[in-house]
Amino acid sequence: MTCEELMAALLDYTGGELVVEHRETVEVHISGCERCESYVATYTHTTRLVRALPKCGALPPALEARLRKALEAELGEG
Ligand SMILES: [Zn+2]
Repeated sequence: MTCEELMAALLDYTGGELVVEHRETVEVHISGCERCESYVATYTHTTRLVRALPKCGALPPALEARLRKALEAELGEG
């Protein structure tokens, strides 16, 4: 799994559980990639917060767009 694939897997998981297949590959990747490890921690935390809200099961599109942009900017720096 590349950093880009990890990011895509994370974005797939808005509003739902990360599928087990993805969870395992993500865990393998972050065990060797500190940068993605911190992304996953932040993303999981954010998603949990959003899911804790009464009427909101998914990240608002604006927030998802911001996260995606931030991740892509970071990854683009190589
Ligand atoms: Zn990575």
